[in-house]
Amino acid sequence: MKIIFSQRCLEYEVLGHPESPQRIRLAYNFLKEKGFEFIEPRPCSEEDIILAHSRSLLEKVKNNQIFDPDTPNILDIFKYACLSVGSAILAQEICLTENSKVLSLMRPPGHHAGYEQLGGFCYFNNIAIAIKKALQKVNKAVILDLDCHHGNGTQEIFLGNKNILYVSLHQVPLYPGTGLRSEKNCLNYPLPPGTQEEEYLKTLRQALERIKEFKPEIIGISLGLDTYEKDPLANLKLKFSSYHKIGFLINRLEIPSFAVLEGGYSADLGRCIYEFILGWEDKKVDF
Ligand SMILES: [Zn+2]
Repeated sequence: MKIIFSQRCLEYEVLGHPESPQRIRLAYNFLKEKGFEFIEPRPCSEEDIILAHSRSLLEKVKNNQIFDPDTPNILDIFKYACLSVGSAILAQEICLTENSKVLSLMRPPGHHAGYEQLGGFCYFNNIAIAIKKALQKVNKAVILDLDCHHGNGTQEIFLGNKNILYVSLHQVPLYPGTGLRSEKNCLNYPLPPGTQEEEYLKTLRQALERIKEFKPEIIGISLGLDTYEKDPLANLKLKFSSYHKIGFLINRLEIPSFAVLEGGYSADLGRCIYEFILGWEDKKVDF
């Protein structure tokens, strides 16, 4: 199991912002101690970004013309965002060519970035671009969004695209306020605050059934760990063992899959990811 990571994503910081380098640094150290192998990503090209975004959004980020308090203007943010996209693309490529599981452990996250606008700590939509690139080789792909927030950007980019099934489990009400119901090829499973493992897994099983019926050749997972019970930004109640079970259920589909980190703001992010990986790799789980 490979993890794609670059120390360069730890270089930028906005003081007091929850999407901090510290969250990834802690997760990286935790996973390194567990013996994982890390691969260095390369930045994506401008052509890659244009697969999912308008030229005007690309120019705004490139020229630091950003006016969003959640998604601040940062020196060289274009460079960091391109590296995060490049990492997601590499995960997708390794997944398809080697039929192996891969995780992109990078920041900034991506699933709130839409065709024309950034937001919610996201500049470019990493997973959307990686899946757009996958569609140059395969016919049908799924994006399974496990972040506690609805991936409004990803939904907007793929709404009505028959080659894609977008599936999201997320807390409602919560930022960004979308994903209250399913639309076309976008299946939304809103969950109330306080939802615990049993109800979450019941919903996930329903979602995975729909994924199986769609018969995708690849699944890109928007892996947000802010569904964790101690996450400071959301109110779902998943535990370490929940992530083990979630990974296990996805693995059981026997469809090639890769994961791209989205949110997750507790100090336990590394352990949450680790438990997911164990299940995803079909390591022993009892339930
Ligand atoms: Zn989130």
